[in-house]
Amino acid sequence: MSQERRYSFEFFPTKTDAGHEKLLNVARQLAGYNPDFFSCTYGAGGSTRDRTLNTVLQLDGEVKVPTAPHLSCVGDSKAELRELLNTYQSNGIQRIVALRGDLPSGMGMASGELRFANELVEFIRAETGDHFHIEVAAYPEAHPQARSFETDLNNFVRKMQAGADSAITQYFFNADCYFHFVECAEKLGVTQPIVPGIMPITNYSKLARFSDACGAEIPRWIRKQLEAYGDDIDSIQAFGEEVITAMCERLLQGGAPGLHFYTLNQAEPSLAIWHNLKLPR
Ligand code: FAD
Repeated sequence: MSQERRYSFEFFPTKTDAGHEKLLNVARQLAGYNPDFFSCTYGAGGSTRDRTLNTVLQLDGEVKVPTAPHLSCVGDSKAELRELLNTYQSNGIQRIVALRGDLPSGMGMASGELRFANELVEFIRAETGDHFHIEVAAYPEAHPQARSFETDLNNFVRKMQAGADSAITQYFFNADCYFHFVECAEKLGVTQPIVPGIMPITNYSKLARFSDACGAEIPRWIRKQLEAYGDDIDSIQAFGEEVITAMCERLLQGGAPGLHFYTLNQAEPSLAIWHNLKLPR
């Protein structure tokens, strides 16, 4: 793999055996592209604790791609976090994605002892020293709960100063917001890589719902075009592939240190972009 750029694929742990089998097949297919790592999400409040752990150990041990568990602090006690960190460390896991997380609705108020991701980064460093490469989340369009772009940027810098090694962004559809964010972070002294998170476009209604919730703006010209396709999935996917490929080309040409694909447990949408970009295998 390229020395300067890193490429990674993200999965979510599934609820059913059939879903898990499909996830493993997708992961085996993507492993053939020699990514730098996989990552696997974590349900805040520990709702996927065992499934995330099992999936990570299987992807790392059997599919043989270094795999990073996501870990969120919002609903977990320090003791629970410590136990998970120890398990990952003793199983040879070396990278972790440290998050605050969002408690699913119905789970009540956050009960964790750590309130924000910068506190989780500090906790991981205090517990495990330099063992883990720590990734954190970045929001080029600002986190949806942030009072302002500037406040959120300062909070991002706090996470990097707490000991994060690199960051992965929330997805976006506008390369300029990424370059602006990186420039602002660098002005505040951030030197660690900030890797764009890439969401392939495959289903308009789901994407629109999710984007509203996580604060990712779908530009009007993309939204209008996708709406016009209605149920024509093939056209949505072809247009989405073209738009995302063009954005990734700009990101890489502009110096992005790699790409992190939100696969949603599917191989083809990310691979179509990978092939269009002629990324190394
Ligand atoms: P933080 O960095 O803690 O920020 C959360 C909010 O609090 C922001 O508005 C920030 O400005 C503010 N803030 C931060 N620090 C402070 C502070 N010290 N004092 C006051 N305010 C502060 N969610 C999951 O549940 N599971 C996952 O596996 C998962 N994976 C993700 C992976 C990536 C790459 C990304 C981008 C997001 C992921 N998320 C995941 C979503 C994420 O958990 C949510 O966006 C969550 O709302 C914020 O998490 P964070 O780690 O960015 O929080």
